[in-house]
Amino acid sequence: MKIHAAAAEMLGGPPLPFYAPFILAKRSLPTDSVFMDKISSEKRSSNMAQVKGRNTKPEILVRSLLHKMGYRFRLYVKKLPGNPDIVLPRYKTVIFVHGCFWHGHEDCKRATIPVTRTEFWLAKIKGNEERDKRNIVALENLGYRCLTIWQCEMKDIEALKQRLVVFFSK
Ligand SMILES: [Zn+2]
Repeated sequence: MKIHAAAAEMLGGPPLPFYAPFILAKRSLPTDSVFMDKISSEKRSSNMAQVKGRNTKPEILVRSLLHKMGYRFRLYVKKLPGNPDIVLPRYKTVIFVHGCFWHGHEDCKRATIPVTRTEFWLAKIKGNEERDKRNIVALENLGYRCLTIWQCEMKDIEALKQRLVVFFSK
């Protein structure tokens, strides 16, 4: 994971949500830093809550994509390890939609660790990664197939669609 000093300094927390570049483009602002200056702390904490919570934008996108493709699913099945986001009973498959930052997406620029409170973020994200791995092992032991979809995959919906088709054809 790389360190993006400027971003960390501006935010003092995790990086911008995946859709930030679109907001940026819409407002025609010249640089990220100008944009980040304009984010109020209130907005920032609501972004953070959204990243950690249910019904995040990437999750909604994946759900609507699955629905359009004709796959039926259930949401947040509590009896399964890790309360998976999306469960497809017919395929005995579990889909996790992960934020790149919070779940430590390897070699992903969205998973950049801030330089401020670096140790804190590293420990936090490592904890999430380990929990994710434990959940996948437990689910596989119950006979489920697991698919993790990353937030950054939302920028190429066609590729994501292909990935789903390939996954479900196996
Ligand atoms: Zn990513």
